[in-house]
Amino acid sequence: MYASDPEKYRARAREYAKSNPEKVKRYREEHREERRIRKYDRIALENKGGKLSKDIIQKLWKVQKGRCPVCKADLKETGYHLDHIVPLKPRTGEPAGKHEDANMQLTCPTCNLKKFNKNPIQFMQEMGYLL
Ligand SMILES: [Zn+2]
Repeated sequence: MYASDPEKYRARAREYAKSNPEKVKRYREEHREERRIRKYDRIALENKGGKLSKDIIQKLWKVQKGRCPVCKADLKETGYHLDHIVPLKPRTGEPAGKHEDANMQLTCPTCNLKKFNKNPIQFMQEMGYLL
């Protein structure tokens, strides 16, 4: 269906979204992290990278004890972003990070947005950590 006529499929999806805005909005909110993981998997495919464990979020949550590794905020309260420690698309001239479990962390949204595509060491120094 999708493969045989992707344009038709997308047009129907757009139409559905237009006539059911609340449903679509709720679905997107409920599946936000899954969508992010899928998006990263797509980028990684382009970079010939690996795939993340399906339970990567649970694993990181346990290791980090539910706290943001940068500011120590309680992620239960702030929500979280799945972040590449070394960015997949870093600033020009810097080596790209890999899309793999070892390069992932959960940060609070504020820290992740501040960090963006910065080198992790440079970012921590800007935040007043490390030398
Ligand atoms: Zn934080």
